[in-house]
Amino acid sequence: MMNFRLARPAVVVDINRIGELDRVGEEADALVMGALARQRAVERWARAEFPLLATALRHVGHDAIRTRGTIAGSLAHADPAAELPALLLCLDGHVRARSARGERTIAARDLFVSALPFQATNGWGPVERDTSNGEQAAGDGRPIALDGTMYARGLGAHAPGDVTMYLGHNCTSFTAVVGIDDEAGASGSVRYHVLVDNREVASTDIVTGTSAPVSLTADITGGDWLDLVVDEAGDGNGLDHADWADAMIHCN
Ligand SMILES: Cc1cc2nc3c(=O)[nH]c(=O)nc-3n(C[C@H](O)[C@H](O)[C@H](O)COP(=O)(O)OP(=O)(O)OC[C@H]3O[C@@H](n4cnc5c(N)ncnc54)[C@H](O)[C@@H]3O)c2cc1C
Repeated sequence: MMNFRLARPAVVVDINRIGELDRVGEEADALVMGALARQRAVERWARAEFPLLATALRHVGHDAIRTRGTIAGSLAHADPAAELPALLLCLDGHVRARSARGERTIAARDLFVSALPFQATNGWGPVERDTSNGEQAAGDGRPIALDGTMYARGLGAHAPGDVTMYLGHNCTSFTAVVGIDDEAGASGSVRYHVLVDNREVASTDIVTGTSAPVSLTADITGGDWLDLVVDEAGDGNGLDHADWADAMIHCN
């Protein structure tokens, strides 16, 4: 992200010397890689026994990129064209996410919602994948930012809008952190609605450019169609840059 100038953080914390995070090994019946496991190191390590992993990694950038790039960074960035997210999906892998609040294990199939196909209407330009809404052109958003926190994944919408996805009757819950993107400053006001088969299953009060981000959870069990709707909250749609950050659909 920094290499391509997509992210320009004011402060960078270097965690490179936390030794235990570069672990790569086998645990019970799984391969386990720490957050700092480098792509090049995993490629070398996997060559003998896990040729699919080594073969996929050889297609990632070039040696210098793989020497620096981490497995976790690629998965968190989750570019739909990248090798590692596709590989994790193909192998039915999991990501173990840890923070001061605790730990959770996320199946790869639950991790990459913004890569799913969708149809959308949007109040300003197109809905963007993994960036804010930006302006009228496709691909002109910035990294999703809510209250100073950046999100690698999610959808950047603009009220009034509706993103429709097919669930195929097989999913149980939808989660996201929603809010007006920081690019709108203190402006913007919207309401978020989650609909399953045209029935509202979750919504927010009015969220403005000065509101804290809202964690949204919706029960979508058994539904066929999911609609992620933002309305203008009754005051027009000026700067209604509405993010669905970290949007995830959890499926069976
Ligand atoms: C010139 C170039 C060519 C490339 N070519 C390819 C290619 O062909 N195929 C391919 O798949 N990739 C490619 N990449 C991507 C590259 O291989 C890395 O995977 C990617 O840049 C991530 O790098 P990183 O590990 O330094 O993560 P960062 O850039 O530091 O982080 C990426 C994102 O993940 C988040 N993140 C990082 N680590 C964690 C963590 N432990 N927990 C939670 N979030 C985290 C960061 O906050 C950030 O949002 C290319 C990159 C460049 C610069």
